Amino acid sequence: MSAPIDALRNIGIMAHINAGKTTLSERILFFTGVSTHMGEVDDGTATMDWMTQEMERGITIAAAATSCPWQDAVINLIDTPGHVDFTVEVERSLRVLDGAVALISAVEGVQSQTETVWRQAAHHGVPCLAFVNKLDREHKGFQEVLDDIRERLGANPVAFQLPLYDGEVFVGVVDLLGRVAVRFDPASRGARILEGPLPEDLKEEVERARGELFDEVLDSDDLIERYLAQGDLPREVFLEAARAAVLQNRIVPVLCGAAKKNIGVQPLLDAVVSLLPSPQDVPAMVGTNELGEETLLEVSRGAPPAALAFKTLHVPNLGLLTFLRLFAGAVRTGDKLVNARSGAKLRVGRLVRVHAGEFSPVGGGEAGDIVAALGLDGVVTGDTLCAPKHRISLERIRVPSPVIFVAIEPETTDDIQRLSPAVSQLLDEDPTLALERDPQTGQTVLYGMGELHLEVVLERLRVDFQVSCRATRPRVAYRETIARQGEGEGEIDRLVAGRGQFARVGLQLAPLAREAGVEVVLASDLNLPPELGKAALAGAKEALAHGGRRGHPVVDLKVIVTRAEHRLVDSSDHSFRAAARLAIENGLANAGPIVLEPMMRVVILTPEEYMGRVVGDLNARRAQITQIMARANHQVVEASTPLSTMFGYATTLRSSTQGRASCSLHFSHYEPLPGNLVADLP
Ligand code: GDP
Ligand code: MG
Repeated sequence: MSAPIDALRNIGIMAHINAGKTTLSERILFFTGVSTHMGEVDDGTATMDWMTQEMERGITIAAAATSCPWQDAVINLIDTPGHVDFTVEVERSLRVLDGAVALISAVEGVQSQTETVWRQAAHHGVPCLAFVNKLDREHKGFQEVLDDIRERLGANPVAFQLPLYDGEVFVGVVDLLGRVAVRFDPASRGARILEGPLPEDLKEEVERARGELFDEVLDSDDLIERYLAQGDLPREVFLEAARAAVLQNRIVPVLCGAAKKNIGVQPLLDAVVSLLPSPQDVPAMVGTNELGEETLLEVSRGAPPAALAFKTLHVPNLGLLTFLRLFAGAVRTGDKLVNARSGAKLRVGRLVRVHAGEFSPVGGGEAGDIVAALGLDGVVTGDTLCAPKHRISLERIRVPSPVIFVAIEPETTDDIQRLSPAVSQLLDEDPTLALERDPQTGQTVLYGMGELHLEVVLERLRVDFQVSCRATRPRVAYRETIARQGEGEGEIDRLVAGRGQFARVGLQLAPLAREAGVEVVLASDLNLPPELGKAALAGAKEALAHGGRRGHPVVDLKVIVTRAEHRLVDSSDHSFRAAARLAIENGLANAGPIVLEPMMRVVILTPEEYMGRVVGDLNARRAQITQIMARANHQVVEASTPLSTMFGYATTLRSSTQGRASCSLHFSHYEPLPGNLVADLP
């Protein structure tokens, strides 16, 4: 039912927005015969951009997964999104990919988002190919793009091809290994490939580049000797060596083309098959067994099943779709599995393979595969499904905390009724989204990762779920914490309706590392009935969540309830909750309360002449410039800036530089808000 494991290629395409990722994916679907029409981003007919908002915006939001056959292999293509607000999509795609194609526009060179995604890929050890796109437009020199890859991505790029021009017109690629000129017949929309001899004036350059290629790839004495003795190597022998170099992350093969002009796509697919890893070429996954011990899970088909749920999506008229990457064993319809996180038992229902927006039923899948299951309720992103007798939890997907919010208000009573089921679907799909009711204002508040993220969610509510909402302007999600240790006391002692209410709670607060969250525990020597202890814990947690002195949630601290006094008759859950809340309020005041604000990492690419303006503007936004690099006639500025000063920045930057500078903005961490600004907070 599945392709042999060594014939599978699970790959993603990563790129800066507009580099041509969707266009390239469309060409791949077309040339592999998955789709019979060639979609175009520009007129909204791209198959991969199948969610309505994506068509309107021309950007790819959901990482749609698609299988395409090529030669004897099956390529599972995961369309990773390019926009920074959706990095969790990138992150979770990378967890299930074995290799990636970095798409680089020859017009702009390596751009900031490619850099961000590249770093994520490197973190996961994902081997990459680079495809230099848009060579049909006026572009940087090919060599300059290679230098860019080396400098900005810290990689070792090695050209496997050179661009081929007829005069000024880009018409194809030179295959260095075969020393042939490869053209893509425009009349057949690139389907017919014409190979021919090298143009005379290229021969010298081809020999030089070919020499470099062999130098970089061959690292065994045996092969080098053979190469020197015979003056060449058989193609398969060379490709095998090249594949080893890619898997060891020694080289990044570089190919060229123009997706929109149907140039270079088939050779890229060949390279994916011959150079990128199969599921069994990658290191074993880290997981935890039933006893909580770390174990390694080898990708193997003979083993008990283990699958990682890496994405869930509600599809209109179909229901909940859970994307599974199978790491071990097989999963078939009717199988009984267990969710390692919750312990819940589940029965596998219908399974489908996904072709962008379309679904074809399959009976099952095996290790290495990606399939989607229908109706797996209660399974969320990051869960591992496994055999009841062989429990394993694969490492969870890192999800950043939301940093920005809007208050939303449904417009009509119908909208109110539709809001809650709609939002719960969206929350299932997107772990970086959160919904809360503000206890003070009663407003419904939606949290996300950036302006565009929330904009897209509101749009989906309106279009997919017919819920119209008024929304406030986006606001920053501040937090609070403490600077030092402190103690707090709270006491309730009064008569309510003729009954005494008594509780006394003492606690210690201590700061924890950033992003450590909240820990609330009872001291082990506490002399308190268990239900009152529980009430004290609950009261303390409520108080922290409800907000500190400035009304923002309190995080990154540990609270120990060290003392408690109760009276047999007069003490109740209520009194202990209330006393614990008071003790927290009191303790926060004693522990050096501080406000934390989300900081963004911004990377700006600007022409030299706008440098002064860009830097001056950053300074006015409380930015800390961390690095400035010169690149050709551009400068790359990296800075750490508060989110609060960066609303609408991309637009401002574009208009102040006649559209010539670009930026990427990415949540980085929380940091104390300078004391003089705390008073100005809303
Ligand atoms: P994505 O944001 O990376 O998915 O990029 P798209 O595929 O949406 O492409 C962005 C724009 O670049 C669209 O207008 C495409 O038609 C155009 N484009 C993509 N590839 C090429 C190419 O090879 N040559 C040219 N000239 N334009 C291209
Ligand atoms: Mg796209």
